[in-house]
Amino acid sequence: MTNTDHKTHYGLFINGKWTKASGDKFTEIKSPATGNVLAQVSNGSKKDVEQAVNAANAAFSAWSRKTAEERADVLYAFKALLERDADRLARIISSEMGKPLKEAKVEVGFAAGLLRFAAENTRRLEGDIVPGSRPGEKILLEKIPHGVVGGISAWNFPLALFTRKVAPALAAGNTIVIKPHELAPLAALEATQLAEEAGIPAGVLNVVTGDGKDVGTPLVEHPGVKLITMTGSTATGKKIMAAAANTLKEVRLELGGKAPFIVMEDADLEKAAEAAVLARFTNAGQVCTSNERTYVHSAIYDKFSVLVRKKIDSLKVGNPLDPSTDMGPKVSLLELEKVHAMVEKAISQGAKLETGGQRLKGGVYDQGFFYAPTLLTDVREDMDIVKDEVFGPVMLLTKVSDYDDALRQANDCRYGLSAYVFTNDLKRIMRISSDLHFGEVYVNREGGEAPQGFHHGYKDSGLGGEDGKYGLEAYVQTKTIYLNA
Ligand code: NAD
Repeated sequence: MTNTDHKTHYGLFINGKWTKASGDKFTEIKSPATGNVLAQVSNGSKKDVEQAVNAANAAFSAWSRKTAEERADVLYAFKALLERDADRLARIISSEMGKPLKEAKVEVGFAAGLLRFAAENTRRLEGDIVPGSRPGEKILLEKIPHGVVGGISAWNFPLALFTRKVAPALAAGNTIVIKPHELAPLAALEATQLAEEAGIPAGVLNVVTGDGKDVGTPLVEHPGVKLITMTGSTATGKKIMAAAANTLKEVRLELGGKAPFIVMEDADLEKAAEAAVLARFTNAGQVCTSNERTYVHSAIYDKFSVLVRKKIDSLKVGNPLDPSTDMGPKVSLLELEKVHAMVEKAISQGAKLETGGQRLKGGVYDQGFFYAPTLLTDVREDMDIVKDEVFGPVMLLTKVSDYDDALRQANDCRYGLSAYVFTNDLKRIMRISSDLHFGEVYVNREGGEAPQGFHHGYKDSGLGGEDGKYGLEAYVQTKTIYLNA
């Protein structure tokens, strides 16, 4: 396999070369909007993982000994190429997983921002010197890389999740073997070619495509991999944690969410409604930080319902490559059917369907997995849809009596990733740190992490956290040196 035929057939990227998978089998990648075949991607296997880990291991010594500036320069070059090819990459993201082009452009910008942050921080992986216990002794606490990192990512941000793992891993001096999601691996594969162009040395970045069973599990179980960083569902995260136990490797898990979105009676209602709709329908609701439960104070509930309904009805659903599209298809038929079943169950349990609640039909809709933007009102805390992650374009409105009621219902949840609060009352805002049990809280704004923040879920939402200086810490370990002359 060479670079020349990559547009239709993608190989694996191991030790700086595009190679055939050992089984020489491919999977078709299809657009969820049109059903068109976009490319054929190699099905990797345990044998390929073995080769990739060996290559990453062999490259580690030279890469980790490079100066911080040298590692930064390569990451800056990679970022510049991502920006040079931003439009092309955005089209690939839209085509392979269905998010509207305008959102895909934002994703490319975020991916570049993650590379910038990592490059800026190669020189800031600082340790400590503490007083020794013997005369003249100094104790050095040094931050050093782990070695080979294994990355496993989800399909909903195929480029950003790729750089979210590659950038800090390489910045800290590790090498990496990464597995993109089998549904949407193309943006990561194209970015890998840019990484090659940027001068990332052979073996430092290796990409093995394939599914969880054939590639993910062998990567997690491999004794040569020292840290697994995974983004995906909670169920898979738990399996990965169990599989990593045998080799006692570190795991960082960024998992599902069920974000509450609290709107109090003193909030700027127009701003809150705008943000609530954005936080729910962006990427067709397929974001870990999506507004999964909207809690609205009883005094403004009716007014707020009308406001969001108007905005939902004006969303333009269609081909994601059309620049005017607000919402594309669901990523797969399976995902669409899962969402529809959840909506039907909620209705059977007493929720009121205001709009949507069905698969869209006719014209372009017949070619893809389009689900109507949906609004359910009269949603109660005992309904199943309030407990499980919907991950689709379905807004749930629940009436709350006061702030305490909102906090209680928001916290009554097995997930703990993101939360939103709209209020102008400083006293309420001050209670967030102690009373709202989520790792990331957006106050008076819609979602969207910053590369210098810390994206971290509590409870079933994960372990470890990513981004910013705290996220970078995952990619180093501490060595203690008792220094005596
Ligand atoms: P998924 O769990 O189906 O897949 C995630 C990755 O794990 C894929 O690459 C898959 O091939 C791999 N995998 C599957 N089984 C495996 C196994 N046994 N061993 C090793 N690897 C295995 O998740 P998904 O459908 O791609 O993603 C959607 C989920 O991801 C949602 O729950 C969403 O909330 C979550 N997510 C979380 C974040 C975050 O930062 N917290 C970000 C994006 C998505």
